[in-house]
Amino acid sequence: MRQASAMTRSTPFSYACGRCSRCCRHKGIALNPYEALRLARHEGLTTTEFLARFTDRAGTQLKQRADGACVFLGAEGCGVHADRPLVCRIYPLGRHISPEDVETFSELEPHPQTEGRYGTQGTVGDYLEAQGAEPFIRAANRYLNLFRELADSLAEQVARLAAPEREAVKGNFVRPTDDAAPDSAWLDIDRTVDEYCRERGLEKPVDAERLLELHVEALSAWSRHLTEENAS
Ligand code: SF4
Repeated sequence: MRQASAMTRSTPFSYACGRCSRCCRHKGIALNPYEALRLARHEGLTTTEFLARFTDRAGTQLKQRADGACVFLGAEGCGVHADRPLVCRIYPLGRHISPEDVETFSELEPHPQTEGRYGTQGTVGDYLEAQGAEPFIRAANRYLNLFRELADSLAEQVARLAAPEREAVKGNFVRPTDDAAPDSAWLDIDRTVDEYCRERGLEKPVDAERLLELHVEALSAWSRHLTEENAS
């Protein structure tokens, strides 16, 4: 039975996957750069190679096969289980963050023939822990905060423009399309961190968590630089 109201980490909840793999078909699996990094390393690739081979929508979504199956769905189920993205880990829950940073969860609409079994023998928090969700939640929070910082910086820069220039800037924003090439360099952790480390004479770390931190640091520095440059 799906719960109608917003759930928290202490809400009673349990879910046992029936391995029917129906949730791995016809779903747009969104990726942030950290998730792309985890999957890239699982495949023995750089993020640059991974984004080009396995993603659509300018590197923000996993590719699907012609029959709608996720590109990583195999005969035995998920082929990247240990490094699967957050939305796959916490399914059938969705996670939401309000503008005030309040975290809630909701139950997603299940596939009509799902073989998963719902229950209340635990809590949402127990389920997240069992799915190894915390590093992915930390990364999602880091990128959300960075996104807010970038949005504020952009709004500040646009506000300084004269009216005609402001309209021209708005006209330049485009949504990624299905056939867009993964050319958003800032989504590419290896490319961004390689450059950041080279410029500062730093040794590039191997650890995924450290790469995440450097990626956020690099983008944040870039945002501050742009703001300062446009203010001068
Ligand atoms: S990454 Fe794995 S769990 Fe997620 S949709 Fe693809 S096959 Fe399913």
